[in-house]
Amino acid sequence: MELDLGIEQEVVQVLLPIPAAKAYSYSVPKGMNLAPGDFVQVPLGPRKIASVVWDVLDDTDAKPVDPNKLRSVEQKFDCPRLAEPVRRFIDWVSNYTVSPPGMVLRSVLRAPGALDPETPLAGLRYLGGEPERLTDARRRVLEILGEQPGLAWTRSGLAHAAGTGTSVIDGLVKQGLFENVLIPPPPVVVQPDPTHGLDGIALNSDQTEAAAHLVAKVNERSFNTILLDGVTGSGKTEVYFEAIAAALEQGKQVLILLPEIALTATFLDRFEARFSAPPAPWHSDIAPKLRERVWRQVATGQVRVVAGARSSLFLPFENLGLIIVDEEHDTAFKQEDRFFYNARDMAVVRASIGDFTCVLASATPSIESRVNAQSGRYAHVEMKQRHGAAVLPNLETIDLRKDPPPRGKFLSPVLTDAMQAAVGRGEQALLFLNRRGYAPLTLCRVCGFRFECHNCSAWLVEHRFRNQLQCHHCGHAEPVPEACSNCGTLDHLVACGPGVERLAEEVDELFPDARIVVLSSDMFGGVARLRIELEAIAKGEADIIIGTQLVAKGHNFPLMTCVGVVDADLGLANGDPRAAERTFQLLSQVTGRAGRAGGESIGLLQTYAPDHPVIAAIASGDRDAFYEREIALRQQAGLPPFSRLVALIISATDKREAQNHAQNLKNSAPKSAEVMLLGPAEAPMSLVRGRFRFRLLVHTQRSFDVQSYVRSWIAQGPKERGSVRVQIDVDPQSFL
Ligand code: ADP
Ligand code: ZN
Repeated sequence: MELDLGIEQEVVQVLLPIPAAKAYSYSVPKGMNLAPGDFVQVPLGPRKIASVVWDVLDDTDAKPVDPNKLRSVEQKFDCPRLAEPVRRFIDWVSNYTVSPPGMVLRSVLRAPGALDPETPLAGLRYLGGEPERLTDARRRVLEILGEQPGLAWTRSGLAHAAGTGTSVIDGLVKQGLFENVLIPPPPVVVQPDPTHGLDGIALNSDQTEAAAHLVAKVNERSFNTILLDGVTGSGKTEVYFEAIAAALEQGKQVLILLPEIALTATFLDRFEARFSAPPAPWHSDIAPKLRERVWRQVATGQVRVVAGARSSLFLPFENLGLIIVDEEHDTAFKQEDRFFYNARDMAVVRASIGDFTCVLASATPSIESRVNAQSGRYAHVEMKQRHGAAVLPNLETIDLRKDPPPRGKFLSPVLTDAMQAAVGRGEQALLFLNRRGYAPLTLCRVCGFRFECHNCSAWLVEHRFRNQLQCHHCGHAEPVPEACSNCGTLDHLVACGPGVERLAEEVDELFPDARIVVLSSDMFGGVARLRIELEAIAKGEADIIIGTQLVAKGHNFPLMTCVGVVDADLGLANGDPRAAERTFQLLSQVTGRAGRAGGESIGLLQTYAPDHPVIAAIASGDRDAFYEREIALRQQAGLPPFSRLVALIISATDKREAQNHAQNLKNSAPKSAEVMLLGPAEAPMSLVRGRFRFRLLVHTQRSFDVQSYVRSWIAQGPKERGSVRVQIDVDPQSFL
């Protein structure tokens, strides 16, 4: 063999961020040393693509390749290798979600510029000596330089520190007082200090016990999952901070997954108070340059803690040792484009591959997580009391059949009286309605025509401030018409039902002196404005807040003592077995906004079905009873998590085409006694952005290898043609 050296060319497998089923072979140029995990640039057709050298675990049925026929790796990036656990994670996610590994890898390669090292900054180092002419400004600069001799400065940094302009610095440079040096790029965030805030906050006894449990688990340094299940305001954040401190002490990196990262300013402040430095952020809105720096410094291990959206699971952590999933029940963790995955579930997988702890925190855990806690797969750490003087609000239903709102209005006098009382005491009231805009439906009083989106199966929602009808699914907007587009009658259009804008109108009439704030995700000014409004509310600068589900999440409003849910039945109407859980979670979170600073508070639920088990469970505050019942129902019906569901979503621009393909696909399904196939049925949203959608549901036992089944089915079934697309959703949110 020795003799062949120099003739024999090495071949590597490279995974490209494209929807291919496998890694591709490339030859390695002489002198380039490659190992799995190396980031490389390879040619593909006319393109050059940043990719990763992959380990080929099972090569037995691969045909031998002639290296001379292969194209060659063009470049190896000067970047730390993608760690082995990250590579195994990508393989695992690809297999579980039935999506090509390259599609999953694409989520890793989200900052191409970060593959090259950060460029150092141009710096100046003082050589000593004085300029010819000593002005005041120059003297100040010399003073600053004298304070830390030998330190390298950027030109603007030095000017800033001395309180002068950069021209003063330039003048000194001309006189030869500095040498040019390179300053290493600064860290995105300074290192967190696990002992920093220890004296600041004294954990109560519940917290101490829970924190000790978490810390002990983290210190086992092996895979385990903990459900941190504590009522709103019980102080879960402080508890999992202790787990983070333990992981940092071990020298590990930590990932905190948050559902609504853009709105977590207060979270970042609390983190900084405990660890003296904020975590590095990661979500779709961060500026490209910062994005590259965070990615790079996560790969080098310089960034120790990331707080991010679901996509941060795919960051190239060098040495990850703990994941916290806060609000683990939140649907924002489910990604439903490109490939479908639930970041909560994948976080547990990532922890098992990396052999460390995963903490799932929630006041209203998902049914799945409660079942796992019951069965002992997850440790169950419960916190049933609110922290300090805070007590949970008294919850009551308002039976709208007995206490209806006035004609054409939406608020029962029982609710408005309670609001009046709170506002009268100088406290705050919150009205929750999960509907943006003015009215969810506009119809013609003459012919009954309903205004619908022509791209989606959805009503157009009137937005009166903008004078528009909008589709909340595709963003289509049109001016509010004066005449019916069906019968042409003028001025006979009516708004049906309330949105938050319409509620604001009603509240404004009832409380003319109150300061009213409407919070909804489409408000003018976006996230920045929302942050300002939230801070103002926390400071007591508003009396009545009207909001969509944005207000449900994690905010602390100390003066909030009255929460009204305008339509508690809203989420229960669509018949999906998952709806009960969603409603319970959302309404518990909303009513949990009340009374967080101590004293009496009240949560009122307007409903036409006060006896509905979900509404009754929320009103009685009996969480355990709710979970018991819901879990029993799922078990009886054989629904997840007691079975497995995979949805195949077949879509096309033509309805017949979509339906035919769905039927053909079903007909081609491999026969199996262990598989129940349902559908094709129109998807819950049957038309979205101009594409008609049908669903096939695969229902199996948990033990069945449904991924292999679906993979071989798709491989031998009818191929996607024309506009037809087939998407695979393992563990779909909707059970319909
Ligand atoms: P949860 O996430 O369980 O709803 P939080 O962690 O947001 O609860 O805590 C609720 C509030 O109580 C926060 O304002 C937090 O700062 C405060 N808090 C929690 N624990 C303590 C403590 N030990 N000492 C003082 N304040 C605390
Ligand atoms: Zn639409």
